[in-house]
Amino acid sequence: MEDLPNGFLNYPKKRPGFESAGDEIRRHMSDAEFGKVQTDYLESQKRALRDGWRVPDESASEPGELHLFSERRDAVKWGVDRKYRAQDVRSYMRIPSAGAASSGPVFDFDELDRIAETDRRWSWLEINLGAIQNNIMAIKATLDPATLFMAVVKADGYGHGAVPCAKTALNSGADYLGVATVDEAMEIRQGGIEAPILILSEPPLASIPLLLGYNIMPSVATVEFAVKYAEAADSIGAKAPYHLKVNTGMNRVGVRHEAVVDFLQTISFHRALQLVGTFTHFATADVQDTMDFNLQKARFEDALADMRAAAFDPGIVHAANSAATIRHKDVHYDMVRPGIAMYGYFPCPETYGALNLLPAMSVKARITQVNQVPVGEGVSYGLVHRSNGFAKTCTVPIGYGDGLNRALSGRIDFIMDGRTYPQVGTICMDQCMFEVDIRTRSGIGRIEPQVGDEVIVVGEQGNAFVTIDQMADMLGTLSYEVMIAFGNSRMPKMYV
Ligand SMILES: *Cc1c(COP(=O)(O)O)cnc(C)c1O
Repeated sequence: MEDLPNGFLNYPKKRPGFESAGDEIRRHMSDAEFGKVQTDYLESQKRALRDGWRVPDESASEPGELHLFSERRDAVKWGVDRKYRAQDVRSYMRIPSAGAASSGPVFDFDELDRIAETDRRWSWLEINLGAIQNNIMAIKATLDPATLFMAVVKADGYGHGAVPCAKTALNSGADYLGVATVDEAMEIRQGGIEAPILILSEPPLASIPLLLGYNIMPSVATVEFAVKYAEAADSIGAKAPYHLKVNTGMNRVGVRHEAVVDFLQTISFHRALQLVGTFTHFATADVQDTMDFNLQKARFEDALADMRAAAFDPGIVHAANSAATIRHKDVHYDMVRPGIAMYGYFPCPETYGALNLLPAMSVKARITQVNQVPVGEGVSYGLVHRSNGFAKTCTVPIGYGDGLNRALSGRIDFIMDGRTYPQVGTICMDQCMFEVDIRTRSGIGRIEPQVGDEVIVVGEQGNAFVTIDQMADMLGTLSYEVMIAFGNSRMPKMYV
């Protein structure tokens, strides 16, 4: 390894036993073949220099034939000796068909699209659908067998991908899907899922044709919506199924609990309306004190009794989010509506350890550069972190544009090879840095981070773990917000 004049070390270097992509290709080729590869490569470089751009290989003479470029990709795979294997590089180009006016190279965009997203940028989410299945089964094991399960997959499945999560949930015994918006429901239908979908609050009037067309059930809380919805359904000879949302104290959306019977009497003249379910939502299912929770519960049960007394069948009765599902068996009613617990997180400290939940989301990246920063020099915007001279500063391509909140700067750890390392300096939009102390320590030896090494930003390895809950605590927010920031960012999702 060579020390460059600016104090930076020349990376990457090979580890003992490490085989680069080039080495592997070499192993599978006779000397003659390898010689030809090298000659072809030099020739192609010369042509590229001459023409100022890559040109199709003359050997690919058939019109439309895929041109196999003679260069081999290995630089991209430096140091990545665990997950990736060497690959031949295809040119991603097609020879223009005969007769077509040709000016310059023609790319095969289907081929280009096959370059994995994790090879375009070295940060990604891993979503463990097996963990989601485990979590749903763990929750279901605590329910009466007759209790229905609504899998809440709003906000793109809390950032985990709505369609794969919905499919996993239904395969794990869920009966219903809950979303927040018409678009979310449409995406699930377009993903080929036919299970009942409920939008958890009343959508705009103008979306009614979409509800009917895509077989999506709205929550209803206003007379105007109920009537317009029923008229639209009636005009095409269809029914207008809905769930009635009851406001028992959260004061967000819903028909006020004392007014439920009045409301139903006002709209019941309409023959198309079908009351499929009645539900409420708790404002304090996740706080320790249960006084307000019990008040909401009593109001809800009074409203249900009023409905039955007035001969309205409430249909499927439901109220419990994750916290209420875990803490209060007395509000399971006909169906529960867990969200966060499905994805492996406990909604509040009172529920920690109550079930065997496995977090489904991890966040990973690879080191893109390793710098030996001279003692006293700063790192990242503002140079607020200063090098002690005994550390290698490693850059990873993940930042607040990927949901890694800037307020976490200098407060979190990353995991590599089962050990934690402190993130240092300001988190940038697209990148951030962490430090590896390179002094030899007994039992550990000297740690030499390499470009391409995998880093865990959220997840666990060996005894080391970094959780979304820890980040949420530091930020004074909920795990919900942190996971959605990662999940709904530009990072690709890899399902494992
Ligand atoms: C989001 C939501 C849920 C799920 O809440 P979790 O706390 O994630 O379990 C249930 N019901 C309604 C109405 C919701 O909006």
